[in-house]
Amino acid sequence: MPSLQIDSVVKSYDSFAAIKGVSFTAEPGEFVVMVGPSGCGKSTLLRSIAGLETITSGAIRIDGRDITHAEPSDRGVAMVFQNYALYPHMTVAENMGFALKMAGRPKAEIAAAVAKAANILRIEEHLHKTPKQLSGGQKQRVAIGRAITRAPHVFLFDEPLSNLDAALRSQMRVELGRLHAELRATMVYVTHDQTEAMTMATRIVVMNAGRIEQVGAPLDLYNRP
Ligand code: ADP
Ligand code: ADP
Repeated sequence: MPSLQIDSVVKSYDSFAAIKGVSFTAEPGEFVVMVGPSGCGKSTLLRSIAGLETITSGAIRIDGRDITHAEPSDRGVAMVFQNYALYPHMTVAENMGFALKMAGRPKAEIAAAVAKAANILRIEEHLHKTPKQLSGGQKQRVAIGRAITRAPHVFLFDEPLSNLDAALRSQMRVELGRLHAELRATMVYVTHDQTEAMTMATRIVVMNAGRIEQVGAPLDLYNRP
């Protein structure tokens, strides 16, 4: 069964359709990278999957379950944003455990999940700091850690490395590759960076003007004569 099924999704703002009928399927463990010019609808599609936008028509399924009308917290997805979107007044550990706390999980389970994610991302020494005490790269690790603790079926990344400098971007590309291999999770990753698409994708989706224009393996799309 596919991890993610997007079926004829349309998203309109008043009379303008940002997504004009997109269908797409991601199999378990795929690392799908979505590329395309600014304004083509990548972020809107990702936010629609996360439930941060209400779609106009169509359906979205995660592991076979129709989540088109589900709450963001009940979709089995976790999203990582370009601007990190950490809660400034909470510590790193509280940020990472917040979704589980809201879901009413026991303290011991939350602590274990936070410790595991912190270990994977090598941020154990920062757990008691607040976000303003962290560098950009550390903040993005915390944001990724916060997604991991939710144990989502599908990870959604919206240009997560765009605010980092070149050296850090290349380091984080390797980290995300390691994370993908370790968690064997399905990931959908939006970027305008061709290097990220080439190095991380198992499949690339090219969007243009609210539609999917092409889907293919990285080498098929970028190494054509
Ligand atoms: P991308 O992520 O590919 O840069 P977006 O998904 O952010 O593109 O935007 C797609 C289109 O939808 C753009 O034309 C944008 O201006 C428009 N759009 C996005 N959000 C809104 C909104 N809240 N209201 C109206 N138009 C919007
Ligand atoms: P609030 O403003 O009430 O604190 P949040 O910003 O935490 O709300 O989240 C709004 C909705 O998005 C909630 O239903 C929450 O469960 C969900 N949510 C929060 N973080 C993420 C994330 N990383 N990925 C997906 N959904 C999230």
